[in-house]
Amino acid sequence: MPEIFDVIIVGAGPGGATTAWKAAEGGAKVLLLERAPQLPRYKPCGGGIPASVAQHVEGLDPAEFADLSITHLRHSWKGKDPVLAPMATASGAPAEVWMVQRPRFDSHLVARAEAAGATVRTGVKVGGIERDNSGVTVRAGDTSWRARYVVGADGAKGVVGTSAGLRLKRRYGIAREIEIPFQDGIEDGRWHPQLEPNAAYLDYGTVTNGYAWIFPKRNCLSVGAGMLLPKRPTPEANRDIGNLLKRAIDSLLASVNLTIPEGADAPRLWAHPIPFWTGAEPLATADNRALLVGDAAGVVQPMFGEGIQYALRTGDLAARCLLSNDVAAYTDHVRELFADEFDAAARVGRVFHKAPFLSYRLGVKNPRGTALVGRLMAGEASRAHLEQRLYERLKNPLRR
Ligand SMILES: Cc1cc2nc3c(=O)[nH]c(=O)nc-3n(C[C@H](O)[C@H](O)[C@H](O)COP(=O)(O)OP(=O)(O)OC[C@H]3O[C@@H](n4cnc5c(N)ncnc54)[C@H](O)[C@@H]3O)c2cc1C
Repeated sequence: MPEIFDVIIVGAGPGGATTAWKAAEGGAKVLLLERAPQLPRYKPCGGGIPASVAQHVEGLDPAEFADLSITHLRHSWKGKDPVLAPMATASGAPAEVWMVQRPRFDSHLVARAEAAGATVRTGVKVGGIERDNSGVTVRAGDTSWRARYVVGADGAKGVVGTSAGLRLKRRYGIAREIEIPFQDGIEDGRWHPQLEPNAAYLDYGTVTNGYAWIFPKRNCLSVGAGMLLPKRPTPEANRDIGNLLKRAIDSLLASVNLTIPEGADAPRLWAHPIPFWTGAEPLATADNRALLVGDAAGVVQPMFGEGIQYALRTGDLAARCLLSNDVAAYTDHVRELFADEFDAAARVGRVFHKAPFLSYRLGVKNPRGTALVGRLMAGEASRAHLEQRLYERLKNPLRR
């Protein structure tokens, strides 16, 4: 008889690795399958994670996986008119955002899963799943595995969801990202000689429906730009978008006297889709055999395209539902946790992108506006409420 697992998890990113870690820690027999030939693998990403995620997922210690933490956001409009704003909670305590390099961060989570007893197999590209009354078969080429449950943690274009008939109407954004190495490292609290210490850079105006960023790491800068894709993108439009995002990256770098390195050793400029929350669709099958976490579930904050903390949190939640045999409650729990927040963020995003310059001047540059953004990053309980207030402020600029 083939070995039967309690749960097979497809994809070893933050969502899958957290599900595997927490399910194995709770006593489940777990198999984690990853397409990449070996781990660590690179995932194009800014790697910014609000430290407030530790309030929701137990056992995260940034000393084990983060390069550094930032406490300020430096906003700008087309590279100019900058404002440097601290991030703080309502009580004034500084709010941190961890800056991680994804290979190190993701490997750390996979190591936690293995230490808790999960079996990890790399170089396995899952092609699909079949559900029946007694469980699930997961297939990759000629090989198959059996389990009681399967978790799709296979990212933006995941096959588990499609195979299980979940999230068939997906909406995507696209981002381009490059990691520019530098030698200087941390000195006198300054990570890069040309950049503000303790700060991540966000630039608006060059990209419609999006923004550009510079996130500092210990020995490199993650620089990128991303935007929500039109509902029916054509190949030509996609090519134009690729060029537009590259120009946005160049222009942000130029505003701080930096450029993309050229030559044989030049780092790669990646492109990667970002799925977006579209609302009401179920995230588990009616027979409760298959469920989705992270990007595969579309749990990405629609204004900033932030997805790591939601991958961790849905992974943790999925593990709890699996361990208590309550997969039926999973979709409702995800909605209770995130729907208000994501819907509010989408509304703010729509207002912002309709009148970006006005929104920048009245919303982002306004000290109250930057304080609000700081509190959003602090992950306070009233996050959806704060987003709603920002939205009202942008709609009615004269209202106090
Ligand atoms: C350029 C860019 C910048 C971003 N910056 C940030 C940021 O700063 N902060 C933030 O919070 N979010 C950011 N995001 C979003 C964030 O990267 C994702 O939300 C996050 O990676 C989701 O984690 P995940 O585990 O769900 O999926 P992923 O990290 O995509 O992991 C999915 C895994 O599944 C594997 N896989 C896929 N298909 C198969 C298959 N068929 N069989 C087996 N394995 C498979 C993949 O190889 C991969 O390892 C960014 C996204 C992009 C594109």
